[in-house]
Formats: sequence, C-alpha cells, structure tokens
Amino acid sequence: MISAKVCSLKKKKILVVGAGFGGVFVAKELARINRDQFDIELINNNNYFVFQPLLPEVAASTIHSSDAVVPLRQLLRNVQIRQAEVMGIDFANKTAIVVQGFRRIPLDVPYDELVIALGMSVDLKRFPGLPEHALTMKNLSDAHRLRTHVISCLEMADVATDADLKQQLLTFVVVGAGFSGVETVAEVNELIHRALRYYPNIKHEEIKVYLIEYAPRILPTFPADLAAYATKRLELHGVEVLTGIGTKSATSTAIELSDDSIIPTRTIVATIGNGPNPLVETLGLDMHWGRIKTDRFMRVPGHDGVWAIGDAAEIPLVEQPAEDPAHYAPPTAQFAVREGRQLAHNILAKAKGEGLKPFAYTSKGSLASLGMSKAVAEVYGVKLSGTLAWLLWRGFYLSFLPGFASKVRVLVNWLMNLMMPPNIVLIQSSLPSTRYIHYRKGDKVLEPGMLIDGFYTVVKGELKLTIDNPETGEHFEKVFGPGEHFGERVLLKSALRTGLVVALEDSTVLWISQRDFTRLTRAFPYLEEYFKDYIDRTFGGPDRAFAPGSAERPPELESLR
Ligand SMILES: Cc1cc2nc3c(=O)[nH]c(=O)nc-3n(C[C@H](O)[C@H](O)[C@H](O)COP(=O)(O)OP(=O)(O)OC[C@H]3O[C@@H](n4cnc5c(N)ncnc54)[C@H](O)[C@@H]3O)c2cc1C
Repeated sequence: MISAKVCSLKKKKILVVGAGFGGVFVAKELARINRDQFDIELINNNNYFVFQPLLPEVAASTIHSSDAVVPLRQLLRNVQIRQAEVMGIDFANKTAIVVQGFRRIPLDVPYDELVIALGMSVDLKRFPGLPEHALTMKNLSDAHRLRTHVISCLEMADVATDADLKQQLLTFVVVGAGFSGVETVAEVNELIHRALRYYPNIKHEEIKVYLIEYAPRILPTFPADLAAYATKRLELHGVEVLTGIGTKSATSTAIELSDDSIIPTRTIVATIGNGPNPLVETLGLDMHWGRIKTDRFMRVPGHDGVWAIGDAAEIPLVEQPAEDPAHYAPPTAQFAVREGRQLAHNILAKAKGEGLKPFAYTSKGSLASLGMSKAVAEVYGVKLSGTLAWLLWRGFYLSFLPGFASKVRVLVNWLMNLMMPPNIVLIQSSLPSTRYIHYRKGDKVLEPGMLIDGFYTVVKGELKLTIDNPETGEHFEKVFGPGEHFGERVLLKSALRTGLVVALEDSTVLWISQRDFTRLTRAFPYLEEYFKDYIDRTFGGPDRAFAPGSAERPPELESLR
C-alpha cells in the first residue's frame, strides 16, 4: 500500500539528450508548463547552448565567441544539467549510457520519457580530401578555428616571399550556398577587407574569395529575385560566385571542382554535407535521409516513451508523406524551436492520458545576412533587401536570442564592431597533432632548408626525397611508398633541416607533430632504437649531416622534450 503511494508520487523522469534549439526549448517549455510533475534532465556535451545563426559573425570577429553562447545552467534554472557525452541508449532498460568528468566510466541515466535532440553532424566522406582539409561551420570551435585560420593566413601572406604560396594564402573558398555558406562567405570577406589596412604588403586585388554552389543558384530556400540580389551584392564586394559547379576533391593546397578546374588555396570552408549524428546512427532506429523517422506527434515508432525533434528527426507535416522534403519539417532553428515547444505539451498530454497534437507549423520566412550592413529577408510573404532587411535580421536574432545577458552582450559586440576596427588578435588554436594530409601529384611536401614540423608516414601514393649538400656535393634520393616514412632523421638530431620532398602521384600521409613524435620515441625505447637503426641503414649513419646546418638541435627544440 505504502509503496503504491510512493510510486504514484514519484515524478516522471524526462531526459532530453542534446541542448540545441530543439532540446533547450523542449526542456524550457516542460519546466514552464509543469515542473511539479516532471523531473527534467538535459544532457549535452558542452555546458552551453550555441546560437548557430551567429556563428558566421564569430568567424568574422564581429561577435566574441563566448558571447554567441548561453550557459545552460543560467538559461534553464529549473532543469538538471549534466555535461556529458551520450555514448548509447538502452531502449529496453530505458537508460542513456553517458560518460562524464574525469572518471570515464560509463554511467546509466534512467528515463521514463526520452527526447532525442542531438542534431546532425557534418559528413564530407563523399569528397576525397575534404574531411581532412576543409574547415566546417557547425559549432563554436569551428567558428573560432575559422577566424584564427583567416587571420593567420593574412599574417603569413603579409610576410610571404613565395608568390605562389602568397596567392594560396589569400584565396578563400566556401563550399555550399545555403544560409550558412552565404553568411559565412559574406562575413569572412568583410573581415578580410576591413583588416587589410593593418597588412601593408597585401593589396585588396590580391584577395580571392569564392562561393561554390552545386545548385543553379544560391540561397535555394529564398525567392529567386532575393537570391539574385544576394549574388549581386556578394560580387560587388569581390566574391566570385560559381553556381552549377560541385566539389570533386581537396588537398592541403587546392580544391578541385566538378568541371576539373583547380583553385589553389589554403582555406576551404565546407557548409555542405549534413550527415547523421554518429550516435544516432548506431541506435538501430528507422532512419531516412540521415534523420530518425517519427510520426506526426514526434514519437519514435516501436519505442515507447521515445521522441525525436530538431535536425535529428524527420517529422512528417502531412498525413501521407511522399518522398518529398517539403512533406517533412526542415532542419532549421525556426522549426526545432516550435517542435520543442509542441513536444513539451505532448509529453504532458501523455502523462495526463489526454490526446496528442500532431506537429504543424508553417515557416514565417527566412533571413540571411550579406555582410556590409546588407541582408535579404522574406517575412510573411514580404520581400526585403538591403539595409532595412539587415536591421530586421539583427532585430529578429536579438529578440530570438535566449537570455537577457546574452542579448546585451551581442548588442554591445555589434555596436563595438560598427565603431571600432576589427579584432585581429591571433590566439593560436592547435590543430590535431596527428592527422591525414593529402597531396596532389607535383606538390612540394617539404622544401630544402625547412625546419621540420613532424613525422610523415605514407598511407597512399609515392613521394620522393632529394637531399643535396652544396658543401660536399653529395646527392641523395629515395622514393617512399605506403608504410614508409620520413622526417625522423631531422627530428632525431642527425640534421636540422629537411631535403626536398615532392609527391610523385596523388598521395596521403599520416602526419604526427614533432612534439608527439619526440615524446613517443622517448617513451618507447624500442621505437627510438628502430629509428636510429633505420637512419643508419638508409642515410649511412645517424651523425652524417647531408643537409646544411648544425647537427645539434637548437635549445628551443630541445626544450620540447
Ligand atoms: C552557421 C549556421 C547558420 C544557421 N542559420 C540559421 C538561420 O538563420 N535560421 C534557421 O532557422 N536555422 C539556421 N541554422 C540551422 C539551425 O541552427 C539548426 O537547424 C538547429 O541548430 C538545429 O537544432 P537541433 O536542436 O536539432 O540541433 P543542434 O543545434 O545541432 O544541437 C544538438 C546538440 O546536441 C549535442 N550533442 C550531439 N551529440 C551528442 C552526444 N553524443 N552527447 C551529448 N551531446 C551531444 C551537440 O553538441 C549540440 O549541442 C543554421 C545553422 C548553421 C550551422
């Protein structure tokens, strides 16, 4: 008797996984409409909510990265927040398996109702070289990395002595001309041109910015005349808009397009390739176009108490949906917010034993910023372009931004940006210390006299090393194929600088940073022995200096050990 009473008093546990627009708004609405009946927990891998439409402005230095996000604990005061990575879901036992904190021991978090709002991720696998060499625009670190990358390209170009390298550094390519591609190219282009006054060795004419779109026109969700206006504005500010052209492949120094043309560049930003969230993909749920199939009430069929919303979910908008994207809720913030709110009411209705309401919403319009205080907008069927649209864009996003403090911060950033020069402070963010690099046939991987930056293992293709010692007249050549490696001779003290390494065919190498390689060989004496022996056999003795320069490492490199 007592236990039955305790059970009936027990609050239902609503677990929301993913704190994007969908997850945040369902949790917020649940807490608002019936906080006494539910225990609401929100799990996200970061402790903040990212306002994705502002990411291009973070990349352009207009908004400071920490001002485009809102801490979840401040945003959702009546919701339990858990910063953790969701690793799996056990539908039979109604638990989410998470990993959190220092002790990376999987932990079960139980639920009565589960909301999957994990969004989508970027999948560039269809384009060889793009996953390794393209920057993406999905989260805060992407935007921060793009900003850092663009500024460091300007820094390097300003002092570059090689004309080809300078042109590569000053060429910026954005792939995909939906909202995010157009806004990214516009904002980054504005940052570059505004920053040039501080880079005396770079002329405006040397900057090349491309927007590549496979469809016949940019902004496919906008009316054709607004898209045409946007194209004209971008071109007016020096952006070359290439439509009807796809991307074929990429290397560290170029992008190849579907018409076989090659654009030499050190900056490729990919805003294409929406793919399923990697966790969602493993859940064994019915998927379509990379999204979880739901019914019109946002329930996941076959799994009692499981719901899905936002980009991760494919929610039908009509009774009998056909193979037509227009029959499903599109992956936009506008829809994710409404889905979240509606779902909160459906969860409450289910708890009360009342009927559920199918999701229904019609887009109120679209807005896209074009930089330089211009935008395009279509709101309630009214089309606007130019400064008025830009003011509307800013006003709309400001009102939409959750939290008073974040509204004030963004407003201050915008005002500062209007009055002050752009912030070009370069805070180096480190690239992964192990990564794949693709080279096209003929690319120079290392040039004679370069200070080595890491250890290279050939995964695919062939590369040729040539070392000439002008003092002794000695000449050395070696071709490296898959499984062979280079760079160790320079890193392991026998010489300071490299020879010439050229790709004999399209090749891929696995690169390990100098610091990690030295640590690895120090930690594993067998490895160090292997390399010493290898250098001995290949180059004729570890202390034989083929390349000019001291055999000793300079103190700053020694300190890395
Ligand atoms: C640059 C850019 C500009 C955009 N501009 C607009 C616009 O102007 N208008 C518009 O309507 N839409 C716009 N969008 C689209 C919009 O932002 C998305 O549709 C929306 O964010 C989707 O919300 P969501 O909640 O489904 O997913 P997301 O916002 O992607 O949130 C998913 C959350 O889940 C977390 N997560 C994922 N996997 C795990 C895991 N295993 N464990 C824990 N947490 C996890 C992620 O970190 C993230 O916080 C834009 C998108 C981008 C990238």
